[in-house]
Amino acid sequence: MLSDRESSVLVTGAGGFIGGHLVASLVGDGYTRVRAVDIKPLGDWYQLLPSAENLRLDLRLREASRQAARGVRQIYNLAADMGGMGFIESNKAACMLSVLINTHLLEAAKESGCERYFYASSACVYRADKQSDPRVTALRESDVYPAMPEDGYGWEKLFGERMCRHFREDYGLESRVVRYHSVYGEHGTYAGGREKAPAAICRKVAEAKLSGRHEIEIWGDGQQTRSFMYIADGVYGSRAIMASEIDEPINLGSDELVTIDRLVDIVEEIAGIRLRRRYDPGAPQGVRGRNSDNTLIRQKLGWAPSIPLREGLERTYRWVFDQLARRGDRRTAFVS
Ligand code: NAD
Repeated sequence: MLSDRESSVLVTGAGGFIGGHLVASLVGDGYTRVRAVDIKPLGDWYQLLPSAENLRLDLRLREASRQAARGVRQIYNLAADMGGMGFIESNKAACMLSVLINTHLLEAAKESGCERYFYASSACVYRADKQSDPRVTALRESDVYPAMPEDGYGWEKLFGERMCRHFREDYGLESRVVRYHSVYGEHGTYAGGREKAPAAICRKVAEAKLSGRHEIEIWGDGQQTRSFMYIADGVYGSRAIMASEIDEPINLGSDELVTIDRLVDIVEEIAGIRLRRRYDPGAPQGVRGRNSDNTLIRQKLGWAPSIPLREGLERTYRWVFDQLARRGDRRTAFVS
């Protein structure tokens, strides 16, 4: 019988933000057979761990999913065509096509005798009418039905959750389903249109700092509320849920609620500047207010995400600032 550390684990979406951190965590913890898969060229992965088996595959294709799942005991499926509000509101069909990834991977997992399957769902599965007030009541796992999720992306995630449930019930494939509430941190998307609020705000503040143009554009009126979970909590929680007996979908998010204005305040404090704010009420904003109710995860794991927003943002801002500063250096070197 192989120990967990010797058994092989597949992480999909490994070239992305959460997947990259998860691979780093498994490898760092002594896992010797980690297969990391992403559709992106290896040179574009946020983190590339040389001791993992790194493969470039399009998991929407059945054969590619089979190849990825061959011989593995556990699968973490984090691959999806996704991004922040700016992306998911105008790419609904593309978001829904991620259903092909989960479908083919579940089938491949069943065929290959994989023991446990992890699905990255999202707080976007929750009913829109439970999120219309910035003074939110935090979302409990039972607040999903009757279904009225985020159009496109949220529907695909909800369908994915149901697929996992039925593969478990009908075929005995153990599944773990995590509803991430906004995750942020280093080694993730911070520009280009797919970035989420914390990374976007860190980038805008860093750009203001570097350029001396002390202005920032904020999507909406700044009063919409959210909670943001630092990636270290996200990775710890994902692995703990995977190892647990929790077979129903569960929230994995912070319950430290802030307005977007407060988020900007914190990043400004970290950067040591104050910016003139320009609000764009026409920009994509998503729901009015959202928070994670962590009663169930506390009950089941005796743990919940707890890294303070300020602490995680300090690390994230520093990383984003360094990326921009380095890019700026390269540009200067090229021009001269
Ligand atoms: P990410 O975009 O950084 O990573 C996803 C990765 O999947 C990307 O690297 C992408 O190239 C890859 N991918 C897309 N299509 C693929 C395909 N056909 N074949 C193989 N790989 C493919 O996103 P993330 O923030 O790391 O999110 C990971 C998972 O968690 C996603 O399923 C996402 O929907 C879910 N999630 C994330 C958050 C968050 O705040 N980051 C919140 C809720 C849910």
